[in-house]
Amino acid sequence: MNIIFIAPPAAGKGTLSDKLVTKYGYRHLSTGDLLRAEIKKENDLGKKIEEIISRGELVSDDIITELLKNELTNISNEKFILDGYPRNIAQAETLKGIFNELNIENYVTIYLDLEEELAMKRALGRVICGGCGASYNTYFENFMPKNEGICDKCGSELKHRSDDTEETFKVRFSTYVEKTSPVLDYYKNLGKLEVIDANVESDEVFKIVEQILEDGNVDN
Ligand code: AMP
Repeated sequence: MNIIFIAPPAAGKGTLSDKLVTKYGYRHLSTGDLLRAEIKKENDLGKKIEEIISRGELVSDDIITELLKNELTNISNEKFILDGYPRNIAQAETLKGIFNELNIENYVTIYLDLEEELAMKRALGRVICGGCGASYNTYFENFMPKNEGICDKCGSELKHRSDDTEETFKVRFSTYVEKTSPVLDYYKNLGKLEVIDANVESDEVFKIVEQILEDGNVDN
């Protein structure tokens, strides 16, 4: 079953996705990663995107939808995780159209419910490997790297994401509440929504996700 994750910033979508990729061979489609890849190209579009992301606002629907549609069209029959899209009702409607076009029917939307205070702690402590993309957290013992600032897996330098500052986090969280949370009702009305309390360790959340996939029966 394909998965759409909806969550406030730093709720652990990326960590869960990595686990699903490793254990079940999912394809991970993160719109944040697609945008960060555009920024690395250092062209005009990349610069525009970088400014928006560093303010904590949403990139325009046209830009992000185009990037996502290309990816979805190219993955053929692989099962996928959508991480970071849709982020507003217009994107949910657009996604419905894309799914119709590509004959994608089998999916569940999983909402990771997380309190703002914990989300902020996770965002401010998050460090990411510039080499392999592995993610760590300097505020939580189980998620700290063995050597400060160095990736356990590949030895590259660990960095903070430029939008993981307190100021930007606050804008991202309020953007989430205002624009993204209405999407939950949209999927609830379609009978495609599962809710998980994500204020616990990611291993526990992962087990619940596995249970949802096993049951494969979404109707609440
Ligand atoms: P993320 O990696 O999911 O936390 O996304 C980082 C940033 O990328 C967000 O704060 C937005 O500025 C932008 N972004 C990611 N996905 C979308 C989307 N679906 N629509 C608009 N902006 C997005």
